[in-house]
Amino acid sequence: MPQKTKETPMMEQYLEYKKQYPDAFLLYRVGDFYEMFYDDAVKGSQILELTLTSRNKKADEGIPMCGVPHHAIEGYIDTLVDNGYKVAVCDQLENPADAQGKMVKRGVTRVVTPGTIMDKSSQAKENNYITAITTAKGKFGLAYADLSTGEVKVTSVDNQLDLTNELQNLDTKETVVSGKFPQKYLDRLRKIGILISKLDELEENYSFDFSQITSDDEVSTVKLLISYLIKTQMRSLDHLKAAQSYETSSYLLMDHNAQSNLELFKNIRTNKKSGTLLWLLDETKTAMGSRLLKQWLARPLISVEKLHQRQKLVQVFLDNYFQRSSFQDYLTKVYDLERLAGRVAYGTVNGRDLIQLKTSLEQVPEIKSILLDIGDDNLTSYVEKIDEVKDVYELIDKSIVEEPPISVTGGGLIKDNYDEQLDKYLDASKNGKQWLATLKAKEQDETGINNLKIGYNKVFGYYIEVSRANIDKVPEDRYTRKQTLVNAERYITPELKEKESLILEAEEKSKSLEYHLFDQIRSKIKAQIRRIQALANILSQLDVLQSFAVVSEEYHYVAPKFIEGHQLEIKNGRHPVVEKVLSNNSYIPNDVNFDDQTDILLITGPNMSGKSTYMRQLALTVIMAQIGCFVPAESASLPIFDHIFTRIGAADDLISGDSTFMVEMREANDALKNATENSLIIFDEIGRGTATYDGMALAQAIIEYIDKNVKAMTMFSTHYHELTELESQLPGLRNVHVDASEENGDLVFLHKVLPGPADKSYGIHVAKLAGLPEEVLTSAGKILEGLEKSSIHTTVSESIHEPVAKTPTQSPKEPVEEDEAQLSLFPETKPVKKVSNKENQVIK
Ligand code: ADP
Repeated sequence: MPQKTKETPMMEQYLEYKKQYPDAFLLYRVGDFYEMFYDDAVKGSQILELTLTSRNKKADEGIPMCGVPHHAIEGYIDTLVDNGYKVAVCDQLENPADAQGKMVKRGVTRVVTPGTIMDKSSQAKENNYITAITTAKGKFGLAYADLSTGEVKVTSVDNQLDLTNELQNLDTKETVVSGKFPQKYLDRLRKIGILISKLDELEENYSFDFSQITSDDEVSTVKLLISYLIKTQMRSLDHLKAAQSYETSSYLLMDHNAQSNLELFKNIRTNKKSGTLLWLLDETKTAMGSRLLKQWLARPLISVEKLHQRQKLVQVFLDNYFQRSSFQDYLTKVYDLERLAGRVAYGTVNGRDLIQLKTSLEQVPEIKSILLDIGDDNLTSYVEKIDEVKDVYELIDKSIVEEPPISVTGGGLIKDNYDEQLDKYLDASKNGKQWLATLKAKEQDETGINNLKIGYNKVFGYYIEVSRANIDKVPEDRYTRKQTLVNAERYITPELKEKESLILEAEEKSKSLEYHLFDQIRSKIKAQIRRIQALANILSQLDVLQSFAVVSEEYHYVAPKFIEGHQLEIKNGRHPVVEKVLSNNSYIPNDVNFDDQTDILLITGPNMSGKSTYMRQLALTVIMAQIGCFVPAESASLPIFDHIFTRIGAADDLISGDSTFMVEMREANDALKNATENSLIIFDEIGRGTATYDGMALAQAIIEYIDKNVKAMTMFSTHYHELTELESQLPGLRNVHVDASEENGDLVFLHKVLPGPADKSYGIHVAKLAGLPEEVLTSAGKILEGLEKSSIHTTVSESIHEPVAKTPTQSPKEPVEEDEAQLSLFPETKPVKKVSNKENQVIK
């Protein structure tokens, strides 16, 4: 920043503040504008599409400058923050008129950052998480908060991968680190687009509830986060709830790739909510319900007990249609209590917010009585806990007018009969004119001066004017003469003066009294924030549960049964989202079965037949079951899963620059290393990212490894038809295929999953469907024929000890000899040591 030339006092003050906020746009209040200078102005004018001018135009190096009108500042702040920047707002702290020629006192009153922005109505259904991370003894602490709802959570993770995952799953807008945080980790985080903010000094003087955190490291992480919030927000953070520790392992784990591959929140093609599981399930009536649903989806449960609890309530909503729909009607009138509570604490709440709060609270007794009416013990014990927060309702009801203005300083907020003094002021200003008219009539009557007038001027205020002709009728004892005009005399009376001060001051005084009263009301409500938050919590849970009931009813879902042991049975299951978007019930339901012998379903079938849909269908069903929702099937019994691993699709990890194949292998590795027998693995055509034999060898070795060592329930789709022969070798593997038939040389997709391997690969048919030129298709047909005859194709079968029957109905449970089962198709590649058993091969 150029500082060679002597700055004006104002610019000196500006630079002083700018020095304190080097990484933020400093919006500096000058009169009716917030101005930016220097680099901020150059960059800001581009982002905000403002005209760049210059201060001190005459000087050679005029200071670049641009500004926005003060009343429009919020929109500009939003734009800057949306673009990933921070904004420091520097306000005038005194009326410029009072500065008496000296520099107006200014100060930074708030710092808005992507992680701390509040009140963006466009994001009502999203949480906005700010995180803080620390590292100690090779582990990482991670705390997060949503400033608008007051939620604060903290956890520890063992490695950087888990840390990145958690940050991505939270979709954090900003991450706070201390200056000592190792640079090498930060580079990786920045690479995946996480905004890093550094904080060197912790705040000490604040009260915050750490009682529910047990580990010291976690306390330090939360302290870092809270310190940053205090430093940027510069106001009460009383609405922050007690920080809670959580363990990622107490939920069904899904890493960020799994969440995005399964399209839980974002459609991969459009990046929008439409077409996702969240979109399907979201029939919530409140923004807080919608946010909670998203949280539940991101962290499905592993406690059967809790899931049963949710299921029971969903069933109650299903069984009681009428009560459910009137519950929904009342719920619709409930505003975002969580964020309203945040605004109350923050001091940004206005009259309209309080009316929203009142309207919301007004629904609660109705909601309670509807739900209690149902008479279900489970629901009742839940609903009885609801605190209606009636005192707050009553306070707002008697104090705030029904349609208050946005501003809290301009008056017009407080009801009559709330405050005696205010009533007097209001009465004076409202009735002032009326009163003067009455006084005039009274004076005319008493004095007999018919043309007696009441007027006003700035010098004397209100006066009584009597024309010269009537002066002798003036009651000298009551009237004091103030001014003589050519044709008239002006008087005042004690009564007039007494009212005058009331009338004149009334407006100004009533405004400031109203603000004072409003502030008192706000404080009184602030003291009850915990209760409002608890109410919000219960209502949002009920909202999500009724949403599950709505969806389950509409699409005919059933309550899944949780079973112990390594089995799973889904009858006529469907992919919930594909089913919804397909028209006229054309989705073909399919069973999924894992018996206690089966770990792996090897799925073959032509491209486009529905392999991937079938696999995703199971993953989504598991997730729906473990958030307590009903599932798209005729019946479903499944175990509780601890982790879902996916390898789906061919999305390159563009950011890290890894190839498709590298990503594929990394995800496979993650599954093989971390999956337990209670996990679900979905591998869609693993190995296709490399040369055929490479890929096939890896695919096979991976399958064998899972079968031997991992034993997680695995769905593995492949176009390596040769792999289907593994069924005879691996006791835990079963072939299924998605049926397709050929009619007059055309391929017809039946989307039906049947036992056994597919008998043919239909690549050329699919190519025909795609409209490739006839010549290409004929030629490919010929090449295929040639290949099928050549030895290349048979190499694989040759290495197999015994040829395997390919009958589609082959029973998966046929007893398999132990030593035979250990044979590998590719003994010489031996990719996984434990799997192949050379000795056996030699003996045979
Ligand atoms: P694959 O993985 O075998 O290439 P997909 O699973 O991507 O095939 O399915 C291709 C398309 O077929 C899907 O987009 C869907 O529209 C349709 N489809 C898949 N399964 C079914 C089903 N069970 N019923 C109806 N349509 C289906």
